[in-house]
Parts: sequence; structure tokens; C-alpha cells
Amino acid sequence: MHTMWLLLTTSMLYGCSPVDAKSETEDLSDEDADETPDTDSGSPPDVTDQCVTPTASDHLYPPYPEPPDECIEDFWDCPFEDDYALENPNTVCNITEGFDSDGAIQEQFWEAYNYSRDYFGAYGPVYVYFMGPTSEESNEDIWHLRAERRAVVDACYPVERQVDDFFDNPYGSEELDAANSGNGGYFSISGNSGCNPLMDLMMINPRLDEVRTITMHEYHHIFQVAHLRTHDRDSDYGLNSWIMEGQATYSAARFGDETGWGYNFVDIMMGMKGYGGNVSPEGIDAFLEANDGFDLADESYWDRGDFSAAAVYYQLGAWAWAYLVHELDGEVDIALKDFIHDVPSMGREASFHLHFDRTMDEFFVEFATFTEGSDEEWRAILE
Ligand SMILES: [Zn+2]
Repeated sequence: MHTMWLLLTTSMLYGCSPVDAKSETEDLSDEDADETPDTDSGSPPDVTDQCVTPTASDHLYPPYPEPPDECIEDFWDCPFEDDYALENPNTVCNITEGFDSDGAIQEQFWEAYNYSRDYFGAYGPVYVYFMGPTSEESNEDIWHLRAERRAVVDACYPVERQVDDFFDNPYGSEELDAANSGNGGYFSISGNSGCNPLMDLMMINPRLDEVRTITMHEYHHIFQVAHLRTHDRDSDYGLNSWIMEGQATYSAARFGDETGWGYNFVDIMMGMKGYGGNVSPEGIDAFLEANDGFDLADESYWDRGDFSAAAVYYQLGAWAWAYLVHELDGEVDIALKDFIHDVPSMGREASFHLHFDRTMDEFFVEFATFTEGSDEEWRAILE
């Protein structure tokens, strides 16, 4: 049985970082849980730019619907229409009861979210789940609502079982456990079936000092996922990990500097080379030292269980985009937006050739040569 949880684990995660720096958020654990935000019980949660704690009346089921007579067998393989994410470009946010009760983290989240939405455009529907350790009951409630929203109503596989599977998904449990524990920030975007397209933005235990740059990184993924025709990263109509994570890491570093919400762009980029930084404890230099070259298009670094995925997809990926922006004489919008925008209509290979005037394979050879240069040569392309 092709169940939802399996698909979730295999194909839909565009996480911020697989080995994210541990965040200490214990200071949130003793918050006053009495300040329950008012919820407009009964009405659909269509508010944007504020986060609401859901109540039982917000749930879609029970009663659970039966599969329709002409149901969809392979409900995960529904195609994505071009511009599917423009039809309902709304954002809905739910938050754990009592979490961030003074609203300080949410305020910075929306500041960065709106900044990124202005730059990349509005897409959706996006469900933001702002979760923390202040109420396990509330987290369970949010989880149920999330599962209901993701279920494909027209599938032959019953909605009730899709919802149950979502709870049984070991990967998902990890997210729920993380929310309840209060440890380690956890951030990701996950897409869904083309028969029920939506994007989940998980903001689990965000820290005030990191929330804006993380939000910029994740919104970049929203833009990317809005332009996928498939979650298959090897497909010409999907996006490889070096594209997804490399672009998002590059843009958060660059725009974080420009807005003053992050650190110095050159310092972050050189830091990823020299010692790693917040994505991993080790950097590009250590990876290149230990490996005989690298292949950006190889998706198997995820399986290594060390910092290889961080080094290749996030760090070398970010540098690959810095290199391409440099080759475009600083035309960052072409690299980050136009290239992605044309993927659904022509495929990524053709779009790459159109916007960068070389094939992706030609670029890989060129970039590999660049990485053999000195620190000064690396730094020079950032200017
Ligand atoms: Zn990411």
C-alpha cells in the first residue's frame, strides 16, 4: 500500500538543515499558558499574518468521508498543474497554545515572511505550524488538523486511514516529539499530492535571534516548491538538492546581510568553506580534504549520515549560486527567480541553458575547477 507517510518520508522534505545547530529554547518552557488566543470557532481559518491556536471546532473530521465511486488509486502521483500554487496563494498559521505568548517571535517571523513574499511572490496554500513545548495536548490537536488538511479526499484509500498513517509516520513523530521537547530548532517545507496541493511550513521551537533568516530560507523553498511539477529531485521537472538548499542557503545569507537580520554575507560564505557554521560542524574544506571530488547532482549524500549532505547541497550549493550570480554580473534575480520560474514550462535543463548560457554539466566542470582555487579566489567572486 502506497501510504501517505511513506511518501512524506521519501519525497517531500525540503528542510532547512539536516544537522542544524542545536537551539536552546528552555527559556520558553515556563510561559504562562493562560493567554489562549481567541479563535473564531466554526469559521474557516482564513486569516493571514497572525497565528491562531486551533480548537476542536476547527477540525475537518469526523465524520470521515467515504472514498468516492470514481476514486483515485495512485493519489500520490497526481500531476501538478503549471502555476498550481497561484490558485490559492493564502497563508494560514497555527500555533501551540501558550507558545510565544508575548508574540515576539511571531512578529519577527511575519516581518521576514512578508519581506520574502514581496520578493518571490505569494504562493499557497501555505500552512504554517508554529510549535513549541508549552502544550502537548495542543500539539496533538494541531497534528490532527495538519493530517486532515493533507488528506486526499478523492483517494480510494480512506481519509480516516490517511490521517491515522500521518500519526504513525515515524518521521512525522520526530517533528511532533521535537515540538514537545522544546529542544533543537526544526524547520522545513513539505509539499503534498498534486490532488491536494499545499505546503506545510514547520517552525518548531524557533529562537528569536534566528527566526528571520530561517524564515527567509524557508520561504525560498516555498517559491521553489511552487514551481515543481514533481517531487522527484532527479527529474527534469523537479529540483535537485543542490539547487533547493544551495539557493535557499545563499539567499538567506545574502538577504540576511542586506536587511541586517543576519550576519555579514562574506563572513558566512567564507565560514561555510572554512569551518561549517550553522549548517554543519565542518565545512567545505574538510569535505574536499576527505573526498575525491564531489557531484552536485548526486542525491545520495543524504544517505551518508555524516556532514556530506550539508557540505555538498547547502555549502557547496550556496557557493555554486554565488558563482552563477557572479557569472551573471550580479543579476541575482535571474539566478534565483527567472531560472526557477521557467522550470515548469521547459524543464530545469533548458531553463538553466537559457539563463546561464551553458549546460548544467558544463557548469559542473567549471565549478569543480573553481573550487580548487585559493581562498582569495573564492572570496573574489563575492564582490
Ligand atoms: Zn532548506
